[in-house]
Amino acid sequence: MADNTVLLEAKGIVKKFGGVVALDGVDLTVRAGEIRGLIGPNGSGKTTMFNVLTGYIPATSGSMRLGGETLDRLPTHRLARKGIARTFQHIELFKGMTVLDNVVVAAQCREKSKLTGVLLGLPGIKKDEDRFRKKAEEELEFVGIHQYNDLQASELSYGQQRLVEITRALATDPILLLLDEPAAGMNPTEKQELANLIRKIRDRGITVILIDHDMKMVSDLADEITVLDCGRKIAEGLPEAVQSDETVIAAYLGG
Ligand code: ADP
Repeated sequence: MADNTVLLEAKGIVKKFGGVVALDGVDLTVRAGEIRGLIGPNGSGKTTMFNVLTGYIPATSGSMRLGGETLDRLPTHRLARKGIARTFQHIELFKGMTVLDNVVVAAQCREKSKLTGVLLGLPGIKKDEDRFRKKAEEELEFVGIHQYNDLQASELSYGQQRLVEITRALATDPILLLLDEPAAGMNPTEKQELANLIRKIRDRGITVILIDHDMKMVSDLADEITVLDCGRKIAEGLPEAVQSDETVIAAYLGG
């Protein structure tokens, strides 16, 4: 459960793409151990917020702190090493690699210098390789898809591939995990299993921010929900309060 320690504090985030203002001064404060829902109509700026928080794109202005440390304008690999991990709206797996190897590569990425050693075949690296493999196997078991370890990623169903993406993120030992529409393309049973997994991830002490269109799933899971519309935060609070907020209802009907 969330305590009152602030983990992430983003202030006044602005992102402009030419004339398009995708984010217009968004503040986002997330407590450690929380599951935060991030919702809003299409084009409201949710993915752009994830892109800024993970350093995929630089903010036009604004500031960001993680665990009290200022992280403004750090590139994505530096933010990953600070403990921020994400999944993508569009699956980004190495389709021709096995499920296990997909996760091993992700585990290595947290330790870039070691990865270079592995790629160059430097001596003494074998021990690290074994460690990354063990870590990957543990995370695949945690997510409950270890039975697919030796299959090519492309052989899995869409929903299973999404779980591999989450496993890859977990293999970097994040403290903050951003999930961008993880339930997209999943059937109701898979969605239920995903919801259980997200709770299990939170119970492990990882703070989660979840973007999804499935309002019921987000409301069931999230401690609090933040709502964006046209690049601005229009509501924030407990799921019940947000769902009945007239501004939120109007934004969805208008969108
Ligand atoms: P959401 O995730 O809520 O659907 P996005 O963050 O994807 O919204 O998009 C917010 C706005 O920013 C939209 O108007 C979108 O067209 C625009 N946008 C996002 N990424 C880019 C980009 N790389 N170049 C130009 N416009 C972009």
